[in-house]
Formats: sequence, C-alpha cells, structure tokens
Amino acid sequence: MEFEPVIGLEVHAQLLTRSKLFCGCSTQFGAPPNSNTCPVCLALPGALPVVNREAVAMAVKAAVALGCKVSETSVFARKNYFYPDLPKGYQISQFELPLGEHGRVQVYSGDRTDTGKIVNRQEKSFGITRIHMEDDAGKSIHDEERSHVNLNRTGVPLIEIVSEPDFRSSQEAYDYLIHLRKTLLYIGICDGNMEEGSLRCDANVSVRPKGSEKFGTKVEIKNLNSFRFLQRALDYEIERQMQVLSEGGTVVQETRLWDESSGRTFTMRSKEEAHDYRYFPEPDLPPLKLDPAWIAELTEAVPELPGARMERFVRQYGLSIDDALLLTSTRATAEYFERCAEVSGNPRSSANWIMGDLAFALKNMGKEIEDCPISPDSLAALISKIDSGEISGKIAKTVFEEMTRTLEEPAAIIQRLGLAQVSDEASIGAVVDRIVAANPKQVAEYRSGKTRVLGYFVGQVMKETKGQANPQMVNELLQKKLADA
Ligand code: ADP
Ligand code: ZN
Ligand code: MG
Repeated sequence: MEFEPVIGLEVHAQLLTRSKLFCGCSTQFGAPPNSNTCPVCLALPGALPVVNREAVAMAVKAAVALGCKVSETSVFARKNYFYPDLPKGYQISQFELPLGEHGRVQVYSGDRTDTGKIVNRQEKSFGITRIHMEDDAGKSIHDEERSHVNLNRTGVPLIEIVSEPDFRSSQEAYDYLIHLRKTLLYIGICDGNMEEGSLRCDANVSVRPKGSEKFGTKVEIKNLNSFRFLQRALDYEIERQMQVLSEGGTVVQETRLWDESSGRTFTMRSKEEAHDYRYFPEPDLPPLKLDPAWIAELTEAVPELPGARMERFVRQYGLSIDDALLLTSTRATAEYFERCAEVSGNPRSSANWIMGDLAFALKNMGKEIEDCPISPDSLAALISKIDSGEISGKIAKTVFEEMTRTLEEPAAIIQRLGLAQVSDEASIGAVVDRIVAANPKQVAEYRSGKTRVLGYFVGQVMKETKGQANPQMVNELLQKKLADA
C-alpha cells in the first residue's frame, strides 16, 4: 500500500520586545542567571501581570503578515502544569479566543541545490489555524550533579503559530518554516535564531493510505532546534510510521523527542501521561480589547512582505523568480539590491554582482549583508564604470577584490593602480601592428578563411595591454589590419 504523510507545525517565536510580557524585566539573552527577574515573573504572592503594549503590537503585525483575521477581543487563559522552571505553575496563554485566526500563506516549495536554489519549484498554499500570545517558561539546565533553574526567560513574550495539517512532505514543512522565519524577520518582531531558542518548532506527523480522506493517528515531535533537524526528524518519523502500518500495526498517539546523535525519534510521553492543562480564563487580566483604529494602524505599518517583494522584483527589474527569491531572502539583501540597482541604473548587473562576487566576499569575511563594508553605492559606482566603458568586466573583478581589501572607492583604486581602460586608437593600433607582424602563420590561416584565429589575436593584444585595452576597439582594429595585411 502507498502511504502519504500529513504534517502540521506548531511554532513558537520570541518577540523582540525590550521588556517581558507582563512585567518590566529585561528580555536580554545571556544576562547573568536569574538577574532579569521581579516579583511578577517570579510569581511572588500578590504580584499582578500588566500586558506589554509593544508585545501586542508585534503579535498583531505577525497575524496580519500571515494573513490572519485579528480578533478585536481575545482572552488570556491559564494553561496549568507543573515544572520547576515555571514558578506560577501555569503559563498565561490564549485558548478559546486567540489573537489571530484563519491565516494563509503562499510558499515556494521544492528541492534544494547546494547553493540553496529551489529546483522543481511549486507555489503552495498553507493554512494557519491560529496565532496566540503567551509567556515563556524559564530554563532548566542539568549537569551531572544537579539541576539549575534560570528564570531570565520566564515571562518573555511568545507567539505560537499553529498551522493546519497541510504539509504532505518534510520538504513542504521545511519550506513553510523558512517562509515563516523570513516573514517574522521582515516585520522585525523576532530574530529567528533557532539555536538560541527564539524560534522553536514542534511537528505533528501522521501517515495515511494514499487517497484516504481520514487522517491517521498523529505523533508530536519536540526538540527540533534547526531546520535540518526538522527535516531529518520528519523523514525518520514518516518512515517509522509507514513501517508500523505496513506490518499491520497501529501508530500510538504520543510525544516523541528527536535525538540528533542517533538520528531517531524516541518516546517522551504517551497519551496517558499527556498533560491536562485545565485551561480557564486568566482572572488577573481582563479580555484583551483592541481598538480597530490601532489594528488598522499596525496593519499599515507592516512592510512589503517577501512574497510581494519577490513578485515586484520580477515585474519591475525583469529578474527570474529564482534570482528574485534569493534577493528577497532577507530584507537587508533586498534593500541592498534596490539601492544598487537604482544608483547604477543596471538591475541585472547589480543582481549578478550581489549574488556572485559580493556573496562570495561576504562569506570569506564571515559577514552578513547588514554589515557589508562595501556600500551599495560603491558597488553601483563600480558597475557604472563597466557600463560606461571606463573599465572592462575583467578589470572590474580586480577592482572589486581591491575594494574588499582596502575599502576604497572604485575610482580611487582605478586611478591608483592605473587600471582605466585604454581607448586610445594610436597606442592600441601600435600593439595590434606588432602582434600581427609577429604571427605570420596565424595571419595566413585567417586569410585562408579560418576567421576563428581572430580570437587568438584578441587574446594576445589583451595580454600585452594587461586587459586594459578597449575590447571593441581591439576587435575593430584587428579586423581592419588583418583584412589589409
Ligand atoms: P492537539 O489537540 O493535540 O493540540 P491540534 O488539533 O490542536 O492537536 O493540532 C495541533 C497540531 O497538529 C496542528 O498543527 C495541526 O495541524 C496538527 N495536526 C492535527 N491533526 C493531525 C494529524 N492527524 N496529522 C498530522 N498533524 C495533525
Ligand atoms: Zn519580571
Ligand atoms: Mg492544540
């Protein structure tokens, strides 16, 4: 029998607010343990929560960016469970009335090449069930002798984004998560760092006979703190469930953990051990009522999103979808490209330089485009010098290398190293005469109709002029000379 996987993701994203969700404590990552705490986030008796307006604003923007309907009224609820790093004994979350619902995203999905290009690209549409706000728990760190609790993270604002069970392969889930991360970074509400835990993902997986309408029993996988882990864990789990079913067994509903070192998932807790969260409306907070005018204002403040920007790049600059996808992969890349294209007036060449030489140089420098030491205006100046014929494309590579080394402007480098293209007919003509005179055999071949040897002559002239001769002029002068000779 042929089986088909069904996958849904639950993604937690830490919001980039400076203070926590219900108190004024700092959210700074890596501060000394337990230093970012106060009576509210330590849950001391009598302390009361106050909602952080900025966190709500960020959550609304996320909901808008993911196509959700923003609720004018949502309700905070207690999600009760016991854990040493959860001093309140509950998280303040949202249950029955979440902040956003019924979202939808368009995602390009397909296999990846080594360079990150998508092959067999298809546009897919995935549903988002809900987005709700909640406060984060603390962190337990276990060493050989004892466990340590750090409550700095307690109360840091999160949004949870729950997808519909719409993914039919690990690749689709992966591409959705990439899209989600990109979107959250574009709107500037999350840093997307999976290693530090600012973006966390749990995956729900089931398999069913292909063609069947009914979903199979799902397993939840936790501990997926990288894109690679997500894909590997899903592939393993899909295979495991298919094996169970094809042997006539049944999949048990449970929570499993991904173990990267063994490349397997294993049981963390069964359905019987599942938490009963005993949700009820949070008595210490009134329902969250949002002014429609404020929602409209926040909706306005959502910048052009990666999908729309990609489509505009295709329309406005005549780029391919692949190139437009790469150039919109981060907002900084997109902004760099647009500035360079505008200043140089040559979008095609700007795209090539940014995706080629500049990307390579940044990789060597270990830098992101945000901290690129070469400004888009400097790169544009270089492109303009090629377009105006001041330097050849080949010399431009030398100039660019020098730019990455000395951070000078291209004009200064061209002058200092004397790299400007020679378009002086007399001096090029002299070299042409010399080369033609020195190669009688090739001249004879040319005359006998083997005009291919022209390339040989061009090469010789360029070599002698260190690549600085105007190639078009070299060609013309050579053809004339060879015809006359
Ligand atoms: P729970 O009640 O266990 O929290 P939900 O219905 O809220 O389950 O769904 C949690 C996540 O699991 C969602 O992302 C949803 O899309 C996904 N999901 C639900 N049912 C299935 C299934 N049969 N197979 C795979 N994923 C599923
Ligand atoms: Zn606090
Ligand atoms: Mg649920």
